[in-house]
Amino acid sequence: MVRTILALACAATLFASDEIEVSIAARAIEPGELVVLTVKTPPDLQRVRVRVFDRDVPVFRDADRSWRALIGIDLDVEPGDHVITVDAQAGKLALHATHELAVLPHKFATRTLNVDESYVNPPAEVQTRIARDAADLQHVWQSSAPERLWTGAFVRPVPGRSVSRFGTRSVFNGQLRNPHNGGDFMSPAGTPIEAPNAGRVALARDLYFSGNTVVIDHGLSMFSTLAHMSQIDVREGEMVKAGQVVGRVGATGRVTGPHLHWAVRVGGARVDPLSVLAVLGGQ
Ligand code: ZN
Repeated sequence: MVRTILALACAATLFASDEIEVSIAARAIEPGELVVLTVKTPPDLQRVRVRVFDRDVPVFRDADRSWRALIGIDLDVEPGDHVITVDAQAGKLALHATHELAVLPHKFATRTLNVDESYVNPPAEVQTRIARDAADLQHVWQSSAPERLWTGAFVRPVPGRSVSRFGTRSVFNGQLRNPHNGGDFMSPAGTPIEAPNAGRVALARDLYFSGNTVVIDHGLSMFSTLAHMSQIDVREGEMVKAGQVVGRVGATGRVTGPHLHWAVRVGGARVDPLSVLAVLGGQ
């Protein structure tokens, strides 16, 4: 399975009525992909609400005054038709539209890795720490800024080749573990890691599995996690700009060698960072 960001985002008008016109842009409509939905008309919309997969998705008004919704198709979404509903308010008029998002199946590869046994079956003395890490991350996911903190295009955090491996089922020392929820960028140890976009540093510390980790809250429940760093160069609570150095590539946590792991969550969905670059990377 090789997918390339050279297969650029496609955009198509999906559904239009007299009142409302909606289009989508995506690299693919599959689990692990980001879909950006745009509501263009009418121009006097005051409020837009978009729901799919039984939940509201983040919506914002962009610089061109269009409304955009970020639909993350989580790794675990079942292929098939999923209904998107759009509700909007224009003056006293309530507008409503629906569309079936046809999610195609995607077969993710399986990889086998050998790491230190303490990362596959962690000893009892680190279980408290692992539970605390997980609780801290849950708190971060629930504390996103209610407004958009990112601006402009998302950028690659390191220049190196990406092997992505997003969604790969990982067998560590012969035992199946959670699917790979990010992209791997094969840059040498010490390479500066740049913030993929602006936001607030929601977490900056050493976690058991992901090593030295920085989580950037881009606002509206969109997060970048940058993991396995040799060094962290930002502090929790700090605001960062796109391209600002937040740390250095390393090999901390559960790894087989130095690389950057970049994971993106959108409205709770785990999506491939390369799909984010494809649709929000500003090519
Ligand atoms: Zn990784």
